Amino acid sequence: MNDFEAGRPVVLRGGTVLPMDGRQGEGGRVLPRTDVLVIGDRIAAVGPGLAAPPDAVEIDASGGIVMPGMIDTHRHMWQTALRGYGADWTLTQYFVWFYLEHGKLFRPEDVHAGNTLAAIEALDAGVTTVVDWSHGLQTVDHADAAADALQSVPGRYVLAYGNLQQSPAEWTAAPEFRDFVRRRVTGDDLLGFQIAFDVLGDPAFPEKPAFEAARELGAAVTTHAGVWGATGDDGIKLMYEHGFMTSGTIYVHAASLSADSYHRIAATGGSISVSTESEQSAGQGYPPTWAIRAHGIPVSLSMDTSVWWSGDLFSAMRATLGADRSREHLEAHAKGETVTHCGLRADQVVEWATRGGARALGRDDLGSLEPGKKADLVLIKNDLSPVSFPLLNPFGHVAFQAQRGDVHTVLVNGRVVKHEHRLLGIDLAAARHEVEGTVEYLRSEMGEEAWEQGMNPDIPATKLLDNPYTYTDYRSDSTHRL
Ligand SMILES: [Zn+2]
Repeated sequence: MNDFEAGRPVVLRGGTVLPMDGRQGEGGRVLPRTDVLVIGDRIAAVGPGLAAPPDAVEIDASGGIVMPGMIDTHRHMWQTALRGYGADWTLTQYFVWFYLEHGKLFRPEDVHAGNTLAAIEALDAGVTTVVDWSHGLQTVDHADAAADALQSVPGRYVLAYGNLQQSPAEWTAAPEFRDFVRRRVTGDDLLGFQIAFDVLGDPAFPEKPAFEAARELGAAVTTHAGVWGATGDDGIKLMYEHGFMTSGTIYVHAASLSADSYHRIAATGGSISVSTESEQSAGQGYPPTWAIRAHGIPVSLSMDTSVWWSGDLFSAMRATLGADRSREHLEAHAKGETVTHCGLRADQVVEWATRGGARALGRDDLGSLEPGKKADLVLIKNDLSPVSFPLLNPFGHVAFQAQRGDVHTVLVNGRVVKHEHRLLGIDLAAARHEVEGTVEYLRSEMGEEAWEQGMNPDIPATKLLDNPYTYTDYRSDSTHRL
């Protein structure tokens, strides 16, 4: 038991509050020495020196930053069971491993193991809502395992149902899938539902029945669009011409699309989930924020899969700022020009990581700290860290200085799930045990050689360039050819 179990009101005292309320521009406002009062599942008040109910638990937020919980709009949570395994993969190696060769080895308990660990990891990093882009649901038992895992961890999740082993038309028509939806999609505020599949650009548009199914079920579609060599402008055109581009649609990556496709997305009100770290390493295309900013398309952030990267949005914000600015500099240099003012600001990526995610999910009640909104929030504070001060530019601090170890307190739906850097009511040992079982099983099914090869893809030969210069060490008269 702890102070927070009984649903007592909580007041965070004297933090630097980033309300992300859209006032004074996009990201913008900073409220110094401000309190946030949470009663039940809602934010009751934001302001200095708030009166709190006598039974409220006080959390000292001084020296820290209080901001909305972060929202990840695309994460293949089942793959967290293989954390880091694909660090040196390209997208091609990922496709071969998960789609063609070993992805189907995952049993329901392996999806459960991955999802449970991913869900815990998200809370630890202050990511209070995650879209579980769950395309490993090859049977409904896998889907039940995925949903069970998400409901066993006190965060907010959206199960984006997918099955990469069958065509979307096939699995969305299956009676057992419809039965799953009836049983598990119950309007639970902490477990949303989407439909996840990709549109490959076949002119016959075989994905059409899946879009119709989503419409019939009232579920938003999330789709990997603009993935170099896999999905592109043809898919966007088909969706547009058949009337399936809607305001709830999330286009993941959208990294190798034409201006025409961006115009169609902008005109139909959809949003783009940018996974900068993924686009940089895997090769879907250049991380597209530099392009989609010019088209006025709403952005949210995501980290894609822990088979490469860790599940926190600090690194996503940092990578996104870096990639956008790199592109801006490179394009200017190509024209012989110099960028003197950065176009993308730190407050903008913090907005994308919070309010942007809420907007993408159609959740007006998330993503900002305002009275009446759901109490999903994060306190970033680490008194033992030399990186915690001076706190001069709070948005810059979140985007470039902070990391998951600085997440002091996390609330989801008014419930304190992490406090003083420790998760509450989470059985990490059980999650570890489950994942160990999955790793052991996959490894023995694949065999030691395939396991090692999968993790260590061949390195292409690098041709070392001839160097016309020689270096003479001043301490001797010996000459080294470099
Ligand atoms: Zn993905």
